[in-house]
Amino acid sequence: MILQTCNLCPRQCGALRTEQEGNGFCRMGTLPVVARAALHYWEEPCISGKKGSGAVFFTGCTLQCVFCQNYQISTQRAVGKALTPRQLSNLFFRLIDQGANNINLVSATQFVPAIVEALSFKPLPVPVVYNSGGYESLETLHMLDGLIQIYLPDYKYHDNQLAHQLSGASDYVERSHAAILEMERQTGPCQMDANGILQKGTIVRHLLLPGHTKNSIAALDWLAANLSKGTLVSLMGQYTPCGHVSSYPELMRKVTVREYRKVQQHLFDLGLDGYVQELSSAKKDYIPAFDLTGVETE
Ligand code: SF4
Repeated sequence: MILQTCNLCPRQCGALRTEQEGNGFCRMGTLPVVARAALHYWEEPCISGKKGSGAVFFTGCTLQCVFCQNYQISTQRAVGKALTPRQLSNLFFRLIDQGANNINLVSATQFVPAIVEALSFKPLPVPVVYNSGGYESLETLHMLDGLIQIYLPDYKYHDNQLAHQLSGASDYVERSHAAILEMERQTGPCQMDANGILQKGTIVRHLLLPGHTKNSIAALDWLAANLSKGTLVSLMGQYTPCGHVSSYPELMRKVTVREYRKVQQHLFDLGLDGYVQELSSAKKDYIPAFDLTGVETE
């Protein structure tokens, strides 16, 4: 598959992308590049459950967050194997055979056409999770309508200046608003099975950044005012300095207990339904190794 003018994400690069190479912002070709495919136990309990989520981590990203914990694959694009849509479909079924509760597509935006093809070969017997930074175009989300049962978008910023500074996306706020509303339109309210495993719905994640409680409080206010009933919110305190944060002194430390309690209390005061993460999870141990685990193509 060759894209002469790629406009899959809000960057709208109009880039030329061959199967193996691309000259757009994400620098990726059109064949999906996978850095890791394995059962993953560190998502929200309704996603991971006891059996694990079948996480497929894609290389490259349409955001370039300076604090990215997956910077080895998102920014450096140091690990990854290009797969055909058929090989990707086989990979999904291998994870399902291992007992995965779902197939969890992590940072997949730049490969959506190939993913649509992979999901169209044969219906999966488990839900498909689209795990995204929230920076999506509506046209691309429309391609996924009916193929994705669970959206797991971030809502990182309620401040475009901060989004520009830390992720190079000065239109993040309006793009993510439109994307989140489209995602919950597609999925409807969250529905769990008898074991408490999510089958359908949208969970919006917000990661508290050190020194940025004001951004978090404004983000939660927007979510409380705009989300439909049945869409959940997940507040994450797992920030740990990673990536290229040395130029950002406030990002060189973890979130303090005081910062976390303040934002958590605001979430409770707003009556938002969902999850709050323990601060003790702010460790590098929770960052997966990107070493082509599980990416066999036979
Ligand atoms: S997917 Fe990549 S090439 Fe396409 S518009 Fe986005 S950043 Fe540009």
